[in-house]
Amino acid sequence: MKKEFAVIGLGRFGGSICRTLAQEGMEVLAIDIDEERVNEFSNIVSKAVVADTTDEKVLKDLGIRNFDHVIVAIGDNIQASILTTLILKELGVQKITVKAQNDYHEKVLAKIGADHIVHPERDMGRRIANNMISTNVLDYLELSDEHSIVELIASKKMDGKSLLELDVRAKYGCTVVAIKRQTHIIVSPMAREVIREGDILIVIGADKDINRFEKNIV
Ligand code: ATP
Ligand code: ATP
Ligand code: CA
Repeated sequence: MKKEFAVIGLGRFGGSICRTLAQEGMEVLAIDIDEERVNEFSNIVSKAVVADTTDEKVLKDLGIRNFDHVIVAIGDNIQASILTTLILKELGVQKITVKAQNDYHEKVLAKIGADHIVHPERDMGRRIANNMISTNVLDYLELSDEHSIVELIASKKMDGKSLLELDVRAKYGCTVVAIKRQTHIIVSPMAREVIREGDILIVIGADKDINRFEKNIV
């Protein structure tokens, strides 16, 4: 069954979510208080409406309760974002994702029961900064405050050594979940798998362990 999404707030962030969902063939209801913004999306999504989502009756009439996932992407107007989220919660919407503008906003959203809070500017900033710090780190995905999945380029130091010789898991507490080598990918490599310089290692573990691994042998 196709999932139905509603996106409230059609700024750059909400707009990008709408476009991506629509491209993937999802049913999307796009909502904004600004008519011009709504018109921009009328040909992109299934349905686009002008509405003030801080009005409970408006959300009820749109049948918002029946959507599988509602995204609140109201940016600068924190009050409108909080009130909208509160109403969605009261109406019993199953899953609510909200974009937070700052840490206070995030705290309030968590208190009123937003299921998922995103902080795109902060998170993308961290991601880019982390990528800039280390030349070996190609990309990373934060799993929690302390755990990540990281893409590392294998150095000369590792060349010709197996995972067993390097003893990655036992010594550094992190696991190599896959190795990308040119066009192919080795998923769940065995202990005897030999690393070559330039391989891309996809490593999962605690940040402190991954850092140790990276400093010592990558
Ligand atoms: P981004 O940073 O993603 O580009 P933005 O900074 O443009 O977002 P805003 O313009 O503050 O963020 O908000 C996003 C959208 O939310 C705007 O298009 C705005 O019209 C809409 N919006 C604000 N208040 C309401 C409301 N009460 N009901 C519906 N939409 C609203
Ligand atoms: P462990 O008890 O540490 O899981 P194991 O008994 O499964 O090890 P092997 O699979 O033979 O033993 O691996 C021996 C060692 O090789 C592991 O302790 C680990 O340090 C390293 N190793 C094997 N596979 C990986 C991997 N995918 N990622 C990181 N290290 C690995
Ligand atoms: Ca903004």
